[in-house]
Amino acid sequence: MKTSEIQALLDEPACHHNSKEKSGCARPKPGAAAGGCAFDGAQIALLPIADVAHIVHGPIACAGSSWDNRGTRASGPALFRIGMTTDLSETDVIMGRGEKRLFHAIKQAIDSYSPAAVFVYNTCVTALIGDDVEAACRAATAHWGTPVVPVDAAGFYGTKNLGNRLAGEAMFKHVIGTREPDTAPARPDGLPTWDINLIGEYNIAGEFWHVLPLLDALGYRVLCTLSGDARFAEVQTMHRAQATMVVCAKALLNVARKLEEQYGIPYFEGSFYGVEDMNNALRDLSRLIGDADLAARTEALIAREQARADAALAPWRERLRGKRVLLYTGGVKSWSIVSALQDLGMKVVATGTKKSTEEDKARIRELMGDDTRMIDDGSPKALLSVYHEYRADILIAGGRNLYTALKARIPFLDINQEREFAYAGYTGMVELARQMALSIESPVWDAVRRPAPWAQPVSGTLMSV
Ligand code: SF4
Repeated sequence: MKTSEIQALLDEPACHHNSKEKSGCARPKPGAAAGGCAFDGAQIALLPIADVAHIVHGPIACAGSSWDNRGTRASGPALFRIGMTTDLSETDVIMGRGEKRLFHAIKQAIDSYSPAAVFVYNTCVTALIGDDVEAACRAATAHWGTPVVPVDAAGFYGTKNLGNRLAGEAMFKHVIGTREPDTAPARPDGLPTWDINLIGEYNIAGEFWHVLPLLDALGYRVLCTLSGDARFAEVQTMHRAQATMVVCAKALLNVARKLEEQYGIPYFEGSFYGVEDMNNALRDLSRLIGDADLAARTEALIAREQARADAALAPWRERLRGKRVLLYTGGVKSWSIVSALQDLGMKVVATGTKKSTEEDKARIRELMGDDTRMIDDGSPKALLSVYHEYRADILIAGGRNLYTALKARIPFLDINQEREFAYAGYTGMVELARQMALSIESPVWDAVRRPAPWAQPVSGTLMSV
């Protein structure tokens, strides 16, 4: 990939901060790949496409370090869970056997699994030795008749976020628009069908299945979610949707913008976390479709679901009211979760803003007030010091902070991609409240904070060390 193409992706016009004088998403600095390289980001964005064979072209460590670490779920094929790599060695590099090995790997994947398509991920080594992955994919497509798609996102191109964007670019360039959707079957309730896309929805812990029945009840057909529980054929038809929702995914805004520019599909950014955001997402979708009957049915559905959620949340609200939360997560979640927690009567004492944009920060100020504490330093020491200073009751953060919390013997909830529970939609909100209450009230905290029995002096006995 040319430097100018990477720069164009960094200057994504749909990101509001790029309209200012000093524009451009942050350029990679040395060490930027430590939090996930561009290849990692691209693979994470596309791996949930379930019926595709995902081949990592490079040394085995590239595939091994990040394979399937997002708890995404699929309802049908499980091909995406099989790790495939060309496993290049030094000898392959010296002997120039990279492209040959890739061709064999594609053949093996097609022969063994008959996938709907094969995605080939470029990595640092293969980009540096100049393997022509695009040409190999073209030749393989012509030879076997199965679409073979190059995803050129070598690790050194930049950060994980850039990798997400490169993945979106690959889909736009090679997949979207290559097939027409099937005609929607007539609905038993006689309602019209509206086709929509969801971009950036990864179905983590199956949470999208909380939202899908609601969309279905309103008459939406989800043409494609990029990429949770998606199929290759669905990605091909994204250009025929009538509206797109970008779900908590600034990095994939390029796909939404291009769908709007080239196919006239309007889009909005929203979130499925929290009752308020869920309501807004449904309203925004119906606003983009612009149908009066749909708008009325949306309001009726919101009223019904909100009443149900309120009833289910009532006992948890009692238990959580007034509890203080230290939130350390990134991007859109830094504010969308704040509103969900406030809705439960909890107080967010500080929130992490390391990966948040200026718009994210503005939303945080709006929700939490001007003097809110925004944390950039996510080191264990800094997090624990804020936790104790603000007398928080629970730390809500990504999985990598789990051991910080456990070692400090404080309640913890995993909110990021590796989480085990589904928090999206109205039902997800109840699950979030339940998990928080269970974590805060767990008897284990009292037990582990007490001195161990053997550390307590026993009267009349001499302790030897
Ligand atoms: S693509 Fe490059 S930075 Fe990423 S895991 Fe492989 S070698 Fe490391």
